[in-house]
Amino acid sequence: MKVASVLIPLPVPEAFDYEVPDGLGLARGDQVAVPLGPRRLRGVVAEVRETTGSNRRLKAVEGKLDDPALPERTLDFLEWAARWTLSPPGEMAGVALNGLRAPPPRPERRVRRVGDRQPARATPARTVVLETLSERALPAAELARQAGVSSGVVKGLVDEGVLEIIEVAAEHGFDAPDPRHAPATLNPDQAAAAEAMAAAVGGGFQPILLDGVTGSGKTEAYLEAVARLLSAEPEAQVLILLPEIALTQALIERITTRFGAAPAEWHSGVSPPRRRQVWEAVVGGRVRIVVGARSALFLPFTHLRLIVVDEEHDSSFKQEDGLVYHGRDLAVARARIEGAAIVLASATPSLETLWNARQGRYRWLRLGARHGTAVMPDIRLIDLRQTPPERDHWLSPPLVEAMVETLGRREQVLLFLNRRGYAPVVLCRACGHRLTAPDTDSWLVEHRYTGRLVCHLTGFSMPRPARCPECGAADSLVPVGPGVERVEEEAESLFPDARIAVFSSDTAPDARSARELIRRMTDGEIDILVATQAAAKGHNFPHLTLVGVVDADLGLRGGDLRAAERTWQLLTQATGRSGRHDKPGRALLQTWTPDHPVLQALQHGDREGFVETELAEREAASLPPWGRLAALILTGEKAEAVEDTAAALAAAIPNAERLEVYGPADAPLALVRGRRRKRLLVRADRDVDLQAFLRAWLARVKIPGSVRLTVDVDPYSFL
Ligand code: ADP
Repeated sequence: MKVASVLIPLPVPEAFDYEVPDGLGLARGDQVAVPLGPRRLRGVVAEVRETTGSNRRLKAVEGKLDDPALPERTLDFLEWAARWTLSPPGEMAGVALNGLRAPPPRPERRVRRVGDRQPARATPARTVVLETLSERALPAAELARQAGVSSGVVKGLVDEGVLEIIEVAAEHGFDAPDPRHAPATLNPDQAAAAEAMAAAVGGGFQPILLDGVTGSGKTEAYLEAVARLLSAEPEAQVLILLPEIALTQALIERITTRFGAAPAEWHSGVSPPRRRQVWEAVVGGRVRIVVGARSALFLPFTHLRLIVVDEEHDSSFKQEDGLVYHGRDLAVARARIEGAAIVLASATPSLETLWNARQGRYRWLRLGARHGTAVMPDIRLIDLRQTPPERDHWLSPPLVEAMVETLGRREQVLLFLNRRGYAPVVLCRACGHRLTAPDTDSWLVEHRYTGRLVCHLTGFSMPRPARCPECGAADSLVPVGPGVERVEEEAESLFPDARIAVFSSDTAPDARSARELIRRMTDGEIDILVATQAAAKGHNFPHLTLVGVVDADLGLRGGDLRAAERTWQLLTQATGRSGRHDKPGRALLQTWTPDHPVLQALQHGDREGFVETELAEREAASLPPWGRLAALILTGEKAEAVEDTAAALAAAIPNAERLEVYGPADAPLALVRGRRRKRLLVRADRDVDLQAFLRAWLARVKIPGSVRLTVDVDPYSFL
């Protein structure tokens, strides 16, 4: 008899076996309906095999679904990714099927004229409707609105047979890009980089680091490589990954201008019906360019020839909820499995990627300077020990002075502070209590716009209480430290005539509001933008010539593995927003620790020095990229069950060389949403098969149902 192993989107370690009914032709990748207990689930066939005389009584596959099969290499990738991240392969396949949750959009109903038929009785309203419509077809409500009549007028014309209702497919946006539509004239550096990238595509798997300061034209260069690829091979598919949805819109517009057709868009903000359309068009080979967030990696490409990971250093590529994976690392794996080229682009490449480039594993393309006459901003430190701001203020006199000059020239200022809300901590003056969320070890952040206290970790929020919840004192709660809202308040009092806006995930929660803020900034409708990292990345603001970093020490305090690297990247990106084209820019960094190596390197533009020091420190401790890490995180509502499981894991550690296990220890966030958390950390030399070790280890311990274990390979968060 024939047996199919079927991947089902459930947290189980293996595929399930089902009998293949006679006459049902099934192959790897096919989508099937299978029974599981009382349920009927969608699954993907991983394997079909002949067995002889099995004595197990298997349930049978119910049938093959009409949806297209997953391409062979997509499935290879999903299985590889599941092994690499120690995730259930069925859940990984489930991510790839995410586009199929909803039916495609229903056809749109529109009205149009029937020949040149005239109404029996021509009222003025009817005449306007017919004139408005002319040759077009419009939705009835839209037609009534445009004509300025009630919907009854349109309906009357339909009833009379003068207008008819037709159905129009809602599919749009898959027009073929035209590589010759609006080519750019590249400068010599860009042309050389584009040439090298174009040459690499077609040569099989080839990772490339595209390394160039903000504004050097990396985007311009890789779009040229895309154009060459599409000219040579019109069937080819290209995937461009961005770390944040907020960045997708600008790139989509650039691509549309360059190629005369919009790329397909893929991220959580795209509606489920539209996602199904994109999914089907990708597997059907009708889409050439996809621009998306990390989940676009799981789309069923059939001719994937090039992946671009833009802002490759960005830690937003790491997904930590649900399946835990790093989008950039999986993108490299997907390119390898597809035999495609992959371009990792950044002005501040991650140490991992720089290390790979130095070792010669990645081809290293450099863009030397900003395009055209634009120069890099002049970066200076403001020593807050010498020129501190006034008490309960955050802008120091030198920064305020620079703002006065800049605004006086009618140029723009960006004040960068990577902290949402009004104040990061709320403290009781009477008893010293710091307000935390009721079931989470995390301080509540005051938000003045909404008048609430918010836990940024879990989203919990409550109105700001009138009394201290600990000692009951009235009017005793004080905000401590600044968030963007508080800096805005200070800027407003200093510059009452300036047009000031805040850009954070609170004021720009979705792509549309982010786009609107970016447009206002680009068009010069804002004088001072107070922004978190949401605005510090990727955008080009032509009139921005001063970036003030309110707290350059902020990221350095954390002390986790990548604290220095992340601060370096974020501040380089933030200061890189300053100065474009004909206007030279500057950046002022407020700090209490001006001698810190990261800040010194930033001030002197000494990337090599910073990278050298940081890599040497990591090497001394055998930490990534020299070594590898994996974290095990145990959570549960009952402290005892979590403790016992942690102890059982600690007792079952297999013998291994060139590998150490640290912990178990209470996680720095020991309580989240009422769940206790404990962590273990594994460090291994690079040549150790870390995944095999983890698999062997976990096979020895039974995790009770009341405890959840998360495996985080290559962790970025240590909380
Ligand atoms: P990066 O991706 O390195 O930050 P971009 O490709 O976004 O750089 O380029 C920065 C700015 O310079 C953009 O406004 C872009 O349109 C412009 N630019 C870059 N290269 C060229 C070029 N060859 N011709 C015209 N404009 C260019």
